[in-house]
Amino acid sequence: MEDYDLEARLKQIRDVIFSSIPPEARLTKVEFEGPNIALYCEKPQQLLDDESIIRNMAKQIKTRIIVRTDPSRRMLPQDAEKLIRKALGEEVGLENISFNEEEGEVIIMAKKYGSIGGPGSPLLKEIAQETGWRPIFVRAPPIKSATLKGILSLMSNEGTYRKDFLRDVGQSIHRPLIYRNNYVTVKALGGFQEVGRSSILVETASSKVLLDCGVKPGALNTLDEFPRLDTLGFDFQELDAVIISHAHLDHVGFLPFLFKYGYRGPVYMTRPTSELMALLQSDYMDVTEKGGKKPPYGVNDYKKALLHTIPLEYGEVVDISPDIKATLYNAGHILGSAITHLHVGEGEHNIVYTGDFKYADTRLFQRAETDFPRVETLIMESTYGAKNDLMVPREEAERQFIEAVRVTLEHGGSVLIPVLSVGRAQELMIIMADAFNKKLLPKTKVHMEGLLYETTALHMAHPESLSRQLRDSIYYDENPFLHENFDMHLRIEDRQKLATGEPCVIMAPAGMLTGGPALDYLKYMVEEEKNAIIFTSYQAEGTLGRKISKGATEIQLEDESGEEKAFKVRMKVIPIEGLSGHSDRRELIQFIERLRSHPKTIIVNHGEPRKIEDLSSYIRYRFHVDALGLEILDTLRVY
Ligand SMILES: [Zn+2]
Repeated sequence: MEDYDLEARLKQIRDVIFSSIPPEARLTKVEFEGPNIALYCEKPQQLLDDESIIRNMAKQIKTRIIVRTDPSRRMLPQDAEKLIRKALGEEVGLENISFNEEEGEVIIMAKKYGSIGGPGSPLLKEIAQETGWRPIFVRAPPIKSATLKGILSLMSNEGTYRKDFLRDVGQSIHRPLIYRNNYVTVKALGGFQEVGRSSILVETASSKVLLDCGVKPGALNTLDEFPRLDTLGFDFQELDAVIISHAHLDHVGFLPFLFKYGYRGPVYMTRPTSELMALLQSDYMDVTEKGGKKPPYGVNDYKKALLHTIPLEYGEVVDISPDIKATLYNAGHILGSAITHLHVGEGEHNIVYTGDFKYADTRLFQRAETDFPRVETLIMESTYGAKNDLMVPREEAERQFIEAVRVTLEHGGSVLIPVLSVGRAQELMIIMADAFNKKLLPKTKVHMEGLLYETTALHMAHPESLSRQLRDSIYYDENPFLHENFDMHLRIEDRQKLATGEPCVIMAPAGMLTGGPALDYLKYMVEEEKNAIIFTSYQAEGTLGRKISKGATEIQLEDESGEEKAFKVRMKVIPIEGLSGHSDRRELIQFIERLRSHPKTIIVNHGEPRKIEDLSSYIRYRFHVDALGLEILDTLRVY
């Protein structure tokens, strides 16, 4: 690898840009913007018309280039807004237009995308040319999301801060490379020999990158609850980047803690992940506080974390440090979930970290990606990694689920489904909407509690991240999330009435009964034989969900007055196994089989010790590669 310093790198960038940019574009400024380089031009028209000019430059300097109009050439916002409204017409269902002065962007929020024609469409180019503002299209979900609105206003209020931050990130990525890369290590900080608090440090001679930063629900003490960041041996400021695989709290819940203690660098993730994260994190703080505990960080730390996110598209290659490039790929697990590919140096070493993944098509998503150019070290989850963790086929699981719901309703009972707010809940909605349409279920209300309204709205805001079939049904106005039997407007006062009234279906968090409204419903329903509780997701050791699904006949719950009281479990307990967002044993193995490039080392994490042992020994036998499960605090040199 070639050594260089920042000045030399800047000179190289300038040389390439000045020699290829047409003088008519009137370049005024070249600036780092996060992992990208922004060119400010007085007349960017030609560059926007002929994309090959920018593409060639980007290829030579190996960095993505964004073209922006020089601020002096921008229309006044009120004039630009008039022009945009006229250009888009009525049929797009325009909801909001806002301007981000710092980045020269106009954010257009509208209901329909079709008539605009997607990014790079002639209409959007025309808007850019005429107004001098770069149009960013945001789809307004059919039901309003307070989260989306909150994020947009935070980002636009903090525009100046964000611009400075992105410039600093750019400079840090292109800083002098002091040591050529000669090693790569992986340190286990959380989520090894366990499910929860996922966190991994990847270190090279010049960079430190953190993969995930989660909490462990149901942990009994701090040493088990959070990743062992206390053992890093350096300040958080020294981290180059954090990459978040998906928005579940066991992968992101501890992120604001880094900001509480001084981290000010970038956090890479997909856009849906950042939106879900904003939502789940504020909920986590609420729930922790209500449970009488102090959250490990405050609202400001969580806002800081959000301000430092840099959204990436699947497949986009970005520099995240002087010697690491990162790319995110679809993981098929929940909305926005990603498999991370790290390319170290000039390709000396490649790491793939799966996060949680599903290697099978589901109602919500396409199966996880396996087409990575190269991978030497694979870090993979093993939630269902044991020999006997074979799930029934999806169609069969769906049939069992619908059958369980139908029988309970027909016998005059109600169904309680504890769910995480993100993932299974939306999958179950689609399955039920389909069953209602096919008359496989009697017409019944399905009540949804907690964050389900917001998380479902966010799914509808990102149809391009969903499976083809679901995306099309949302585009063509047969949106299953809006089925007439679904009721997403619940009030706390209604819980008892619903739980003890007419037969109905109730979906409520928490998925493992570790808290949340599901517990309230449970106490009203648990002692009635006609009712049923259906578990459709993983129940971690130590949780109430695990206890009940393993056949406990008596449980402790708070009654109305807040006193702990014993309740008899008389309702039917029905675990349904094939609907998980995780891969089962067969799918885990198939994923390895289908990888385009074959890893030399496979590190198995995110599973109970028995599953990790079982899966890694089978991988060794089957693929003749090194496969192992690290212990927390182990560091493995992989290159
Ligand atoms: Zn997950």
